[in-house]
Formats: sequence, structure tokens, C-alpha cells
Amino acid sequence: MSIVIASNNLKKTQELATILESANIQAVSQSKLRIPSIAETGLTFVENAILKARNACEYAGLPAIGDDSGLEVGALAKQPGIYSARFAGSTATDSDNIKKLLEELSDTPEPKRQARFQCVMVFLNSATDPTPIICQGTWEGTIVTTPTGKDGFGYDPIFWVPDYNCTAAELSPEIKNKISHRAKALRQLIAIIKDII
Ligand code: IMP
Repeated sequence: MSIVIASNNLKKTQELATILESANIQAVSQSKLRIPSIAETGLTFVENAILKARNACEYAGLPAIGDDSGLEVGALAKQPGIYSARFAGSTATDSDNIKKLLEELSDTPEPKRQARFQCVMVFLNSATDPTPIICQGTWEGTIVTTPTGKDGFGYDPIFWVPDYNCTAAELSPEIKNKISHRAKALRQLIAIIKDII
């Protein structure tokens, strides 16, 4: 049985598929099944993750994993949060979002540039599953002033990872997949769903 990964973000889907494969869980991306995205109308990461997973289950008739993630910046009262992908507008690119974040932090000195990635990961067995399995992972860092590095996606070029002395975009995919918010949430989820699927 395959599980649908309820995301049309190619980079994110790759990260999730790699972790699932290493746990011998067969996964297929929703874009491969031509499943359209659903509007993220929730007010929390949990609501949006459930919306995405349910949408994929409905279209595919298969179990699905949905995630919602984002960056919380302390100096910006935890913004952009659930609006991370659309921080600079509904059609914003990653570099538009980075530019806006750096502008908003232009007067914030280094000790006050703490940030945290959040990820909520949800497993639904079917579209009507009344008991979603919900796991959460976080990743702590700070925001640098100049984008650096070419790997990853989103805010990775400005997210400084103190343990590795580099930005998330300078980490190899293997390392990111061990320490990221998404990896932490997905590993917890896998430990639970391995007995179900
Ligand atoms: P989602 O696809 O609605 O969950 O949007 C998540 C957004 O948060 C992405 O588009 C990125 O802007 C940001 N984000 C989430 N995870 C990461 C990450 O691992 N690196 C960089 N940015 C991320």
C-alpha cells in the first residue's frame, strides 16, 4: 500500500520521500497523481496539515501524510508562521519572502534574531478518518543578514544552524534530513504508523 505525500512543493516532497523510503514505506507524491492543492484556510499548522492530508485522501482513495510548516521569528512575534510561503504575497517566490523578512529585521541586532522552524505532520488513513495521528518537530536557529548557500528551499539560505556553523542551505540534504523540523516530526510519525500500515 502506498501513502500519498500531500504536497506540491517538489523540494519538500523529496525530503519526505527520502525519509519514508529509508523506513521502507512506499510513498507517492500528490503531484504525480495530479491532485490539486487545497487552500490553506486554517489558522494553525495542525488545521492546515489536516486539510492537506484529507484533500489527498479524498482524491486518491489512499492514506495520506500532510504537513504544514513555517518559520517563527521571535523579533516578529512569531511571524511569518503559517503564512511563511505567502509572506510577501500570494504569488511570492522564496527570494521575495527572504527579501521581505530581511527588510523587516533590518533594525534587529544579531542577539535578537532567533528563529524556529515548526512542522506539524499528520497521517490520515482515509478522508473520513476521525483520529488523525499528529506529530510535531521544531528546529532552532537565527536569521543571518545575507542569504548564503544553494541547497534546500524557502528560508534555508538565511537560517543559521549553530551546531553546524552554516546556513540550512549549506547543509547536505543528508544532514538536513536528520536534524530538520520536518525530519523530527516525520520520524515520530513513522514510529507510530509503522504498525498501522
Ligand atoms: P507549506 O508548504 O504551506 O507548509 O509552507 C511552508 C513554507 O515554510 C515554505 O514555503 C517555506 O517558505 C517555509 N519552510 C518550511 N520548511 C522549510 C525548510 O525546511 N526550509 C526553509 N523554509 C521552509
